[in-house]
Amino acid sequence: MQQYILALDQGTTSSRAIVFDRAGQPVASAQKEFRQLYPRAGWVEHDPDEIWSSQLECAREALRLAGITAAEVASIGVTNQRETTIVWSAATGRPIYNAIVWQCRRTADRAERLSRDMGDRIQSICGVLPDAYFSATKIEWILDHVDGAREMARRGELRFGTVDSWLIYNLTGGRLHLTDRTNASRTMLYDIHRFDWSDELLALFDIPRSMLPEVRPSGAGFGDTAPELFGRAIPIGGVAGDQHAALFGQCCFEPGEAKNTYGTGCFLLMNTGALPIASKNRLITTLAATETDLPEYALEGSVFVAGAAIQWLRDEMGLITSAAESESVARSVHDTAGVYLVPAFAGLGAPHWNAYARGTLVGLTRGAGRAHIVRAALESIAYQTSDILRAMEADTSKTLPHLRVDGGASANAFLMQFQADILGAEVLRPSCAETTALGAAYLAGLNAGVWASRDELRALGGGLTGFRPSMDEGTRNALLDGWRVAVRQCLSGTN
Ligand code: ADP
Repeated sequence: MQQYILALDQGTTSSRAIVFDRAGQPVASAQKEFRQLYPRAGWVEHDPDEIWSSQLECAREALRLAGITAAEVASIGVTNQRETTIVWSAATGRPIYNAIVWQCRRTADRAERLSRDMGDRIQSICGVLPDAYFSATKIEWILDHVDGAREMARRGELRFGTVDSWLIYNLTGGRLHLTDRTNASRTMLYDIHRFDWSDELLALFDIPRSMLPEVRPSGAGFGDTAPELFGRAIPIGGVAGDQHAALFGQCCFEPGEAKNTYGTGCFLLMNTGALPIASKNRLITTLAATETDLPEYALEGSVFVAGAAIQWLRDEMGLITSAAESESVARSVHDTAGVYLVPAFAGLGAPHWNAYARGTLVGLTRGAGRAHIVRAALESIAYQTSDILRAMEADTSKTLPHLRVDGGASANAFLMQFQADILGAEVLRPSCAETTALGAAYLAGLNAGVWASRDELRALGGGLTGFRPSMDEGTRNALLDGWRVAVRQCLSGTN
């Protein structure tokens, strides 16, 4: 009886594998870190062989720990760090360069020029604004800098893939070159309206079509694993980029439903339904993961500094000794006594968009102390999240019904309650913290028939902790007014 789903969660710093049962509960997991390579300032690479070998080891280890064989696995779901770019030889399967990681800034100048010269045009095709994050300029860099690569590409001898493609290629013994729509929509090459690679964008970067994987919906089949890997072939039933997988794992299936991942930064995605929304706030339009051919779209925005502000309190300011301590310290005072921290350490993103903004602490009085500043830092995470969600609501003319949350800092109950209060909407935190892996498992399980429908997935879900808004409107509005003033002060220094 095939009772289990194996989720492969290939992240930026580690590879993980989790075995889920039919109830959507994790049964066993394994994790392996791999090397981060920094060949120059601002450059970040991974060794593609380490990505693959660490992922394979974890998969085998998770099966061993669960005490099951491949025969008991109905399907594999893959989720992955997005945008990271690998180019390999079709003949040998060997990469011609290291994986260029999403964080790598080596193509920042090129992306900035593109943004200036034709940002709107590019976004109208592929949904993303030109940035070095996305794969296109990374592929271009490899073709320009690896000896003979352009000629090989023109002769049809090279293959490009994001990490999902690289894993599928290796899982299928080099037989299949595939990706899913969510990963494709992070390449800056994929036409999210026509579901095909854009000839215009391919020409812009001089990337031949023969390099690119076939794109399938996230819950379509992606072939079977080579039998020798796990002792028996296992179907690969679902693939999605990490944030998209989390949106699916959080069951945000209705237009207006959104999830926020509170990590170092925040990643927000809102399901916007069957029609793509062009944002007026420079949010990204992307394809959501779906189990069928019918497209669904999402808006995406991110907060650059979220949990990182808590790390800053701990490491640079010495105001707390652990991230978790921020909660009790914040609760030791009734409010911030008018103190606001705008943690624009690396500029301010959506909806303010100012690269020159810098961190700003305002409202200090003689009575302001450590606890007020710690509390202000936590509150800033909620305010920034609220700013993005309000922009998404304005773009979609939808009201947020509730916010699903996950990520390290979602453990902080003070922050979650304050988030609910500031949004005036309930915050829902699932008991299973592994929403990314769960999303991949859901897609794979639907494909394999382990689960029949989205309704069934919703009913699985495990327990949810709800944080209901309890702040009166007057207080909320006064706090938000204070935040707006603080942001204005932060931005005024940049003129
Ligand atoms: P990432 O995947 O970006 O590394 P995680 O999801 O592991 O992030 O979350 C880690 C981040 O969350 C850190 O920036 C840390 O400061 C913050 N964090 C962790 N626990 C708490 C907490 N209890 N309260 C506030 N922030 C926290």
